[in-house]
Amino acid sequence: MLKLSQSDYVSLRQHGEETYPHECCGVLLGSFDDDGTRTVTRVAHCGNARKDSPHNRYHIDPKELIRVQREGRERGEDIVGFYHSHPDHPAAWSQTDLAEAHWLGCSYVITSVEKGKAAVTNSFELAGRDESDKKFVDEQTVIV
Ligand SMILES: [Zn+2]
Repeated sequence: MLKLSQSDYVSLRQHGEETYPHECCGVLLGSFDDDGTRTVTRVAHCGNARKDSPHNRYHIDPKELIRVQREGRERGEDIVGFYHSHPDHPAAWSQTDLAEAHWLGCSYVITSVEKGKAAVTNSFELAGRDESDKKFVDEQTVIV
């Protein structure tokens, strides 16, 4: 389960509208709770480093990711997930999304943006023991 505030939810959806028709991407910072819930306390918008195919691919520059991670640590926040948008495509993960997801136990949030308007937002947990058996599992998103 992924918990986030209304304003963080709006923030990640609006980011997809701002970058339309390109994909947006960013990091979810927060905490891992004992029951497996991830609680988001901050949404960090990142730039999409995929200049070759930004309408259907995303990539967070590793330097930017390290900076976001360090700033989070200073506030006592962990990286609990990532988000990106699917311009004019459903809010479902693709094989590329799975291949490029490496943070086991984190949430991957996808928002479909239809004609510039954020539509459906879904979240998936990257489950599995390691890279070889990783998989996306549907998870509930709760706005608190
Ligand atoms: Zn995707």
